Amino acid sequence: MRIDVVTIFPEYLEPLNVSLVGKARARGQLDVRVHDLREWTHDRHHTVDDTPYGGGPGMVMKPEPWGEALDAVLASGAAAPDGTAAPDGVADGAGAEGGAADAGPVLVVPTPSGRPFTQRLAVELAAKPWLVFTPARYEGIDRRVIDEYGDRLDVREVSVGDYVLAGGEAPVLVMVEAVARLLPGVLGNAESHRDDSFAPGAMDGLLEGPVYTKPPEWRGRGIPEVLLSGHHGRIARWRRDQALARTSANRPDLIEGSDPAALDKHDRAA
Ligand code: SAM
Repeated sequence: MRIDVVTIFPEYLEPLNVSLVGKARARGQLDVRVHDLREWTHDRHHTVDDTPYGGGPGMVMKPEPWGEALDAVLASGAAAPDGTAAPDGVADGAGAEGGAADAGPVLVVPTPSGRPFTQRLAVELAAKPWLVFTPARYEGIDRRVIDEYGDRLDVREVSVGDYVLAGGEAPVLVMVEAVARLLPGVLGNAESHRDDSFAPGAMDGLLEGPVYTKPPEWRGRGIPEVLLSGHHGRIARWRRDQALARTSANRPDLIEGSDPAALDKHDRAA
């Protein structure tokens, strides 16, 4: 997968060099390219913002640098006549949803006014060959930029939570890590994300219950007996009950939104 990030704070993305994402990059599973938006400014001060039309506090990011930056990023991944210059799957439109979005990346625009970033969306983005992120600062990016690229790309305006951060770089770190760990071969144990909180399938979108490791006793606290039983059926049942209890306590909305057909008769009794 290829990931491009355009930002006025390239150094903010340095954590993408460490841990899981850093290793995936070193192994060639992830091609991450961070670009400084100010490279596409033409004045002495490298200006990227201006006052908002209609008045009000704060500044708005100017459309011209964003337009030039995104055009350059898109051109760098455009298919050569033989298709070799495009990231995997882009030349033939794989991963795009058809129409105008066929030939390009998914453009992910972090904004508190976007749709919530969820595990479901992470799974969807992990299946795409190329993502471009546009973390903003100030009051955000001039709307015409999102409209302009929305005409030809699959554009997703995405929020990482119901709060307002100073910039979109931290949301990009969050989203890239959530997506990268789903890529084949990135996690040591391919099974592990299938049992994670929110995972569709085995977890039915529930929260994961508590986990334990050695020693069997720590500060007088033991391990739930069932986990030492070696009885796989009972352990699975216990884990499921813990997941249901934790989800009802912390995120009842997830239970209300779940498919009743996914609950078995033991779940109903739990
Ligand atoms: N005026 C904007 C509003 O109220 O929606 C907030 C702008 S915020 C100070 C600056 C930038 O930080 C946003 O354009 C976005 O890139 C990023 N950002 C802040 N909070 C975010 C969130 N919850 N999710 C995703 N991006 C966020």
